[in-house]
Amino acid sequence: MSSTITGAAIIAGVCGAPIKHSMSPLIHDAWIAAAGLDAAYVPFAPAEDRFEAFVDGLRGGAIRGLNVTIPFKERALAAADTASDLARMAGAANLLIFEADGTIRADNTDGPGLLGALAAQASGFDIAAAPVTILGAGGAARGAVAALLLAGAPQVRIVNRTPARAEELAAAFGARVVAADEAALPGLLSDTGLVINATSLGLGGGAGPAAPLELTPAGAVVMDMVYRPLRPEFLRRAEALGRRTVDGLEMLLRQAVPSFEAFYGQAPPASVDVRALALRHLGEA
Ligand code: NAP
Repeated sequence: MSSTITGAAIIAGVCGAPIKHSMSPLIHDAWIAAAGLDAAYVPFAPAEDRFEAFVDGLRGGAIRGLNVTIPFKERALAAADTASDLARMAGAANLLIFEADGTIRADNTDGPGLLGALAAQASGFDIAAAPVTILGAGGAARGAVAALLLAGAPQVRIVNRTPARAEELAAAFGARVVAADEAALPGLLSDTGLVINATSLGLGGGAGPAAPLELTPAGAVVMDMVYRPLRPEFLRRAEALGRRTVDGLEMLLRQAVPSFEAFYGQAPPASVDVRALALRHLGEA
């Protein structure tokens, strides 16, 4: 726990339904304590039909900001007055900042979290060098597409169980994003530089996507957004093939960094090993 707070404390939090499994309080609280800040970071679980009223009530600086998670990310964007390019492109916000003038600013740090995880666990990987293949077309995939395009990916292919959702996503982004069906995967994987599992397959220890990873080039990077377990079946399969892998926990930890900076006006203290903390919390260490 962080130290005692005063009446001048900066308050931020995370909002979702359910919220009790969120690791954000653990991460931010550890940073607050290490930085010795007069601050707090707390979980909120508004009733699903009261989200807009809850956010509206925070206008004018009742708290500094809010991370937003499932199922509120799209509604968070809609509730804001202004939004970053990333949030607009992603069609969702995971960060709301309550300005003193009463306005709400939306941002999305999931994409930067993905790019940060790539930089940390696949150093030297060049996003601009080859197409990216994303499995899944939900909110996480959409956020990833936005960040990958802004980072220079030459093409992003979307493959999804429900093809219409992949097509809808591709249509929202223009020519550099294409939808393909599962039958096309072998051809797509053969020249891809990065494969991302953005489906919920593998969550809780089940089988991951059945994509033929052995067809990827030897230098390809394989990423999985699932982080419970830390090494889902999809990543273990990639590892066994000798591919470099990037895990979902690193993405989660990296998306928290710009949020902390926006709330508390400083970078998280480097002295805290939040990955070790999260691994202990997940029972992985
Ligand atoms: P979502 O909007 O509900 O989308 C779920 C996706 O998974 C859809 O593409 C869905 O396909 C697909 N899917 C679900 N069950 C499937 C099955 N049995 N077979 C094939 N495809 C299946 O969820 P989301 O918010 O995008 O999240 C996706 C995953 O990313 C979750 O595991 C989430 O925990 C993870 N995530 C991680 C981070 C992080 O920081 N590491 C951040 C965000 C999300 P259909 O369209 O056909 O239903």
